[in-house]
Amino acid sequence: MRIYFEKIPEEGLEINFSDNFETSESVFNINSFNGTIYAVNENFILTGNLNITIEDSCDRCLKKFKEDIDEKILIEIVKESSAEAEAEEIELKDEDMGLYFVREEYIDMEEIISQEAVLLRPVKRLCSQDCKGLCPICGTNLNEETCSCKQETDDRWADLKKLLENKNRNEV
Ligand SMILES: [Zn+2]
Ligand SMILES: [Zn+2]
Repeated sequence: MRIYFEKIPEEGLEINFSDNFETSESVFNINSFNGTIYAVNENFILTGNLNITIEDSCDRCLKKFKEDIDEKILIEIVKESSAEAEAEEIELKDEDMGLYFVREEYIDMEEIISQEAVLLRPVKRLCSQDCKGLCPICGTNLNEETCSCKQETDDRWADLKKLLENKNRNEV
């Protein structure tokens, strides 16, 4: 879905959009984006409500689960014209506002919304806050059953766990 800048009226243009896409790790369902795009000076502001469902694997038990996220988004769209855009980028250091640069005469809704959706994916992905994870010895999903392994704390596992957690963090 392309929104051409020249077609955006003064009072703003209402946008209702849905989509779905996947990355190597997750499935993103954009259930709805209901918002408006406004022309502001040389640039544009896209604002509205983004409702998505992300299907991910739990970091602890590896089970697939779905998470619903409902967020208001606010994105400034800057028409890129070389040096000018760079100056703007420094100027617009508003933490709450996303920035999106375009060279074309339109914005691509699939692209801009998928970017936002990926940003909303939680860093820590848990099927539930108290997920017990897998037994490190036999691999039993401890949310579903208990196993008879001796659950003694072994330092080697603690180190490995820390290592894996760091690795996960770096991959984000
Ligand atoms: Zn889990
Ligand atoms: Zn076990």
